[in-house]
Amino acid sequence: MTVTELDTLDIALAGVGKIARDQHIPAIAGHPGLRLAATSSRSGGVAGVENHEDFAALLAARPDIPAVSLCMPPQVRHGYAVDAIRAGRHVMLEKPPGASVSEVLALKALAEKAGVTLFATWHSRHAAGVAAAKAWLADKTIRKVQITWKEDVRHWHPGQDWIWEPGGLGVFDPGINALSILTEILPAPVHLSAAELTFPENRAQPIAAALRFAGEDGLEVAAEFDWRQTGPQSWDIAAETDAGRLTLSEGGAKLAIDDVPQGVAGSGEYPDLYRRFAELIAAGQSDVDVAPLLHVADAFLMGRRLITEPFHD
Ligand code: NAP
Repeated sequence: MTVTELDTLDIALAGVGKIARDQHIPAIAGHPGLRLAATSSRSGGVAGVENHEDFAALLAARPDIPAVSLCMPPQVRHGYAVDAIRAGRHVMLEKPPGASVSEVLALKALAEKAGVTLFATWHSRHAAGVAAAKAWLADKTIRKVQITWKEDVRHWHPGQDWIWEPGGLGVFDPGINALSILTEILPAPVHLSAAELTFPENRAQPIAAALRFAGEDGLEVAAEFDWRQTGPQSWDIAAETDAGRLTLSEGGAKLAIDDVPQGVAGSGEYPDLYRRFAELIAAGQSDVDVAPLLHVADAFLMGRRLITEPFHD
């Protein structure tokens, strides 16, 4: 199944929750080559758009829809993706691409065998300052990187029980966005050297994490993730190099070199993701990078576990 630039690409959206409404639906509507053709939603979907409560029923009823975008929590996404790929559909995955690394790699193999596109998205990589940061760092010697990702879970994830359950990632749900930027902008890979994960005594996933990574030529990366931040929120990455200090702030939206703001412009994270999905389908390619998820898996493998007071919404 292929599309050309002249075709309209029909997309079905499954899991119509916060991110689907905030970002996916407007991004699809804003792209002249895309159309939201149907939804799969247990809670009703989108006004004016055909909805199927059951995803298998949607796949059976609409063989004409070539692509699906999966926006449900990571713990259940794999099953939806397998059904879609087996039905010959191109698949876009919200981040994180799955609840485990191995299930994502299995999906990649399944998509290859089926000859369909699989796109594991990392929306933060499309923030306005990220490409310019990557270009600036490419020929520098990087000595130190500090990541500070601190936000108020009560504000950003009210009542999201899945995020505290196994596979929900806890504070790594936002933290993996920082790791997706890190793994995009660094010229060479780093590996986790130490981690401390802090779990509320009544929750299965961490509320805070401190990570250390080592890289080439003595590069050290420190990351502090914390969900207990009230007041100003921080989504910042700072890199000390032989040619000055680079700062990405506001989740990658703003870039400064030696505290001087740099002019960066982007078309928006989610519009960029859908443009890329359409391009990948047209080119018959997939894009599945598990590097950010590998770092999270390493943190769960190597992390010292600390217990803190219970968390209640
Ligand atoms: P959410 O609103 O809590 O849930 C998304 C939707 O998934 C629900 O409304 C529901 O849709 C469906 N769903 C929930 N539990 C399900 C289950 N057990 N089985 C099948 N479907 C289920 O979550 P969200 O905030 O949109 O996050 C979804 C994904 O997007 C996560 O991986 C998250 O990391 C990522 N993301 C979120 C944000 C954000 O700001 N929230 C930002 C970037 C990425 P229906 O009622 O329609 O079935």
